[in-house]
Amino acid sequence: MTVGIVGAGQLGRMLALAGYPLGLDFRFLDRAADTPGGQVAPILVGEFTDPRLLRKLARGTRVVTFDWENVPVAPLRALADRARFAPPLPALAAAQDRLAEKRLFARLAVPTNAYAAVATARDLARAFARIGPGVLKTRRLGYDGKGQFRVRGARDLDAAWTALGGAPLLYEQFVPFDYEVSVIGARSTRGEIAVYPLGGNVHVEGILRVTRAPFGTPALARAATRYLTRVLEHFHYAGVLTIEFFVKDGRLIANEMAPRVHNSGHWTIEGAATSQFENHLRAILGLPLGSTRARGHAAMVNLIGELPPLAQALAEPGLHWHDYGKSARPGRKIGHCTLIEASAGRRDRRVRALLPALAPGVRVSLPRP
Ligand code: AMP
Repeated sequence: MTVGIVGAGQLGRMLALAGYPLGLDFRFLDRAADTPGGQVAPILVGEFTDPRLLRKLARGTRVVTFDWENVPVAPLRALADRARFAPPLPALAAAQDRLAEKRLFARLAVPTNAYAAVATARDLARAFARIGPGVLKTRRLGYDGKGQFRVRGARDLDAAWTALGGAPLLYEQFVPFDYEVSVIGARSTRGEIAVYPLGGNVHVEGILRVTRAPFGTPALARAATRYLTRVLEHFHYAGVLTIEFFVKDGRLIANEMAPRVHNSGHWTIEGAATSQFENHLRAILGLPLGSTRARGHAAMVNLIGELPPLAQALAEPGLHWHDYGKSARPGRKIGHCTLIEASAGRRDRRVRALLPALAPGVRVSLPRP
């Protein structure tokens, strides 16, 4: 059984690596051959919009899925009679546009922060007058804090407009959160749903650095599961879906969603009974979902820009190493590592001790839930 994957980044690579033990085969489509996915499965090289390549990718595959949600949806829709896409294209379309995403949350009564669509400098001034301090974001193609401008006061409005004006924008309220969490779950084509314990996420300069899981109170996890389930059911979803939340005074405020496996779920490879990657494959193929139970207290640290020496890392007992096979470049996610401990306290002490070697020169503070 072959699965097609649009995008051959590290997420695609980890999907393939999770699928081989199930007897699955993979085929990628990406703009370059030299990609993490291309190192582990055949790859078609070209544009995501090329109808010929998309047809070739779909031919002979049971289902086509995504490693990246920002692929143009129209060429995929045109192929709907030849290929089955999972997650469904409407979920992809909603996640590609921050405004559509906020509207979806509002419609499904998933709490989110105040927001306004911004097309002109006057819209921005009006949005600021109504909402107060916030963040101006491009509606499309923003990731890892890119395409964002923090507006602390009226004096920042001109600079924000100069930086981002011209593209369709979203202005949203700044949330002085206590911490951030994400909920990750799968819905299968048969309607079965399985949700992982919450992950607590620490971002530095907009990029995820550390995820600890399980994280937060049972009440918080229940609320997040309820909201995630609403979105999954709304789309008759198939695959893994992630929602990222701010937590302020014990309440969840949805920030954004990703219709795919997620960086904050990498801990599930060693830290859960079934990884998010395997469950994504099970879900899109209509197979029974695996248990999402945590196997202990996990911490995942992203390796950004450069990798510490392998021998030094492997000398750490129980540290699981994932090198994505990418070339090193400042700000680029090139790997991650995970450790599992028997208690949250022990896990946090170990991560704190390891962080200077894993994230040299970066100040990471780990909040308590
Ligand atoms: P995003 O790409 O929207 O997930 O933003 C990346 C990170 O920037 C988030 O995980 C937060 O740490 C921070 N951030 C984005 N939007 C806001 C906001 N409205 N209030 C506070 N922090 C934010």
